[in-house]
Amino acid sequence: MERFYLTTPIYYVNSTPHIGHAYTTVAADVFVRHQRQRGRESFLLTGVDEHASKVARVAAAQGLEPQEYVDGIVESWRALPARLGVSPDFFIRTSDEGHKRFVQEFLERIRQNGRDDIYQDVYAGLYCVGCEAFKTEDELVDGKCPEHDVEPEWIEERNWFFRLSAYQERLLALYERHDFVLPAFRANEARSFIESGLQDFSISRAGQPWGIPIPWDPDQVAYVWADALVNYLSALTYARSGEDLVERFWPVARHLLGKDILRFHCVYWPALLLAAGYEPPQQLFAHGYLLSGDRKVSKSLGNLVADPLDLVDLYGADAVRFWCARSVSFGQDGIASVDGLRERYERELGNDLGNLLSRVTAMIARYRDGDLEPSPSADSPIAAILEPLADDVAARLDDFDLTGALERIWEVVRALNRHVESTAPWQLAKDDARANELDCVLWDLLDGLRVVAIALAAYLPEASERILDALRQPATLDWREVAYGRAQRVEGLAAATPLFPRVDEPSLTV
Ligand SMILES: [Zn+2]
Repeated sequence: MERFYLTTPIYYVNSTPHIGHAYTTVAADVFVRHQRQRGRESFLLTGVDEHASKVARVAAAQGLEPQEYVDGIVESWRALPARLGVSPDFFIRTSDEGHKRFVQEFLERIRQNGRDDIYQDVYAGLYCVGCEAFKTEDELVDGKCPEHDVEPEWIEERNWFFRLSAYQERLLALYERHDFVLPAFRANEARSFIESGLQDFSISRAGQPWGIPIPWDPDQVAYVWADALVNYLSALTYARSGEDLVERFWPVARHLLGKDILRFHCVYWPALLLAAGYEPPQQLFAHGYLLSGDRKVSKSLGNLVADPLDLVDLYGADAVRFWCARSVSFGQDGIASVDGLRERYERELGNDLGNLLSRVTAMIARYRDGDLEPSPSADSPIAAILEPLADDVAARLDDFDLTGALERIWEVVRALNRHVESTAPWQLAKDDARANELDCVLWDLLDGLRVVAIALAAYLPEASERILDALRQPATLDWREVAYGRAQRVEGLAAATPLFPRVDEPSLTV
């Protein structure tokens, strides 16, 4: 089976983590956990871009060296995956020696590829001294830098350029593959940009002390994208000491990204790779935004919640993961309300799933003293409901349909709830002649919950483990267990404690 290597973008350290970063990180983790359940060798990469142009300026203002400054700020970024129940296989920092060394090799490979793809030219543009950065016309407001309220100066600087214009045909050929970029409308957006004609771009900046020196011209540093994009490949060269993972995980790489960085990933990056003699990645998936602008504030919590990510402390990582996956169809833009998180927590996690577990375990405890023998039956309606689940969910997740796969699992959760109502075990329990029937119903419900727990493990890792534990079932998450009739006999099973207990929001104000 083909290996699975998935990356999040590396995040700029000049802000602190917010729900937008959490969104991509959670999605990546769900995909990787799922592939692991199917026995696929997988690798999840995330990390930070520390060579942002603002870093040196902010560090200087605090009287710190840039490296000291990023060494401090990186901690909140390292904590982000753990807060969300995510364990990446590697956390890359662009100030890592291994990354810097590889970027220099990478740029050198392009320069020596015999096609004159890197050349020197004058970069001319509007430069804001306050920002220490070139500005494009559309970044200005009334001709001024909006951050500093000053007119930028016209500056000419000798830089190194990459001959992107030579790669138009080879890039378009990649887009002949229908799934190189997903969703399809994003592929069309990137293709149109390529077809409209590509401009060479500068890969270096002069006079900046913070960055990776251009190996043949150390007075210049690599421009932010010529540094940052390379992380997806560089990480594989030093993530495991003494081991080069490039052969194992390149080019089977898949990149998740927000739509705002589509052009850099879908045009610049494959061209740079081709120029350096590497295969382009297997696939790129651009997602939309979970939230827009000022709608982040909760009606009930108001300013107590600066960011939905803060709700991890209140509702737990599983609840925030669930809300990320379920609120907005992955790939589309949407507006997920913060109040929606509470609502889904209570209605879907608490009621649909949590109460189902409580009821089923309580009935087995009460009517069977917690003991139940396997009693699968080929014509069980639960068998029919569970039978297509494994393939359906796997197919959706292979297509990055994070939201659709979860909805598919939730259909089963709802079906199990209906089965409780329609079979009414509390009625069956009154009639000794129907004891076998009750055994079958209880065992089907137990087995259905077991299947749901394994199918949900990629989304709700904590809850999944607790459900299997409450059902006295093995903790194995092997995808082949997502099938009817595999529950093991139980003895001494007790009514489960609430899976998603009520959360009293007033505790926030204490
Ligand atoms: Zn400025």
